[in-house]
Amino acid sequence: GTVLLTGASGFIAQHIVLRLLNENYKVIGTVRSESTREKIDNLFKNENLVLEIVPDISNLNAFDEVLAKYSNKIDYVLHTASPFTFNVNDYEKDLLIPALNGTKSILNAIKEHSVESVKRVIITSSYAAITTVGKDGDANVTFNEHTWNPATWESCQSDPVSAYCGSKTFAEKVAWDFVKKNAGSINFTLTTVNPVIVFGPQLFDASVGKNLNTSCELINDIVNYKEGVTQFDPDYFFSFVDVRDVSKAHVLALEKKEAIGKRLFLIAERFSNIELCNIIAKKFPQLKNKMPRNVDFENNDGKALYSKAAYLDNSETKKILGFEFISLEKSIDDTVEQLLRVNK
Ligand code: NDP
Repeated sequence: GTVLLTGASGFIAQHIVLRLLNENYKVIGTVRSESTREKIDNLFKNENLVLEIVPDISNLNAFDEVLAKYSNKIDYVLHTASPFTFNVNDYEKDLLIPALNGTKSILNAIKEHSVESVKRVIITSSYAAITTVGKDGDANVTFNEHTWNPATWESCQSDPVSAYCGSKTFAEKVAWDFVKKNAGSINFTLTTVNPVIVFGPQLFDASVGKNLNTSCELINDIVNYKEGVTQFDPDYFFSFVDVRDVSKAHVLALEKKEAIGKRLFLIAERFSNIELCNIIAKKFPQLKNKMPRNVDFENNDGKALYSKAAYLDNSETKKILGFEFISLEKSIDDTVEQLLRVNK
């Protein structure tokens, strides 16, 4: 089959591309610019990967040209493109509008130009659309495949994290509304993939720069920790899933009929900043003395914090996917191993 994958340059998307190519799918990827097109093309060097340029997903007709070009030759669409950064000034322009309009644009373009052929659409959403901002650290709360971030367009614009979470929420909602409203005139089903924070190695060493994608930057910050310079919150905890499992879930989402109409909530384990330091210091002793000095790693594994955390229940998802998630320790080891090797 042929898959259209938006945002092919992304950290998660590159892992999806590899998995699709390995499973003999033909992949049409979209990127924003000619220079990115060349870069990604050179990294994969694979005749089953074709890249097309879609400059601005905020444009409501962004995907019309690509869908018209491949009219009814596309079987599956994976929409991963969406801004993931907290380093923004204008929440609407930089986060909310591209996320929302990108989703509207891809769905409308399928309906207009490829309604005969597209069978499945998979959208990369997020735990951001499942949780309530500020409640992940509330042990009285449970989040699962059926819970929704209650943010409104207005209420989410107080800070970049809330705005990003809002952007993912509104984009996912508009997709579920679309399939409901257009049930009579489309032939595709929808699945969303909702990961918590994604760690793991970059698919290509060439993607390891001074800074990494937003989620892996949390690890990079600890590896490059500088006393008095790096912000380090010893109370910080969240939860993680490895990028290789996220890519696997996207591909299973388009293959398994049990995934139709579902939100796949991906979480492997909790992590805390202190547990990250412990894992890194154990595996890479050369980094041990460079870690934050105000924390007693020897006597604090960072796990006590998890008793304060919300309960994240993804049992429905685990049943659908049927594979074991990569552990925090392996994910961090592989991420840091690559960073040290490339930045040697
Ligand atoms: P990246 O930043 O590596 O990838 C984001 C992708 O979206 C890139 O291809 C980027 O293109 C593209 N993109 C961003 N903004 C725009 C825009 N305005 N117009 C067109 N394309 C745009 O991050 P990830 O791989 O981590 O994120 C991929 C998806 O996964 C996103 O939808 C994100 O919300 C979601 N996600 C990520 C999590 C994580 O922890 N990493 C957790 C949960 C969900 P370019 O390369 O040109 O910048």
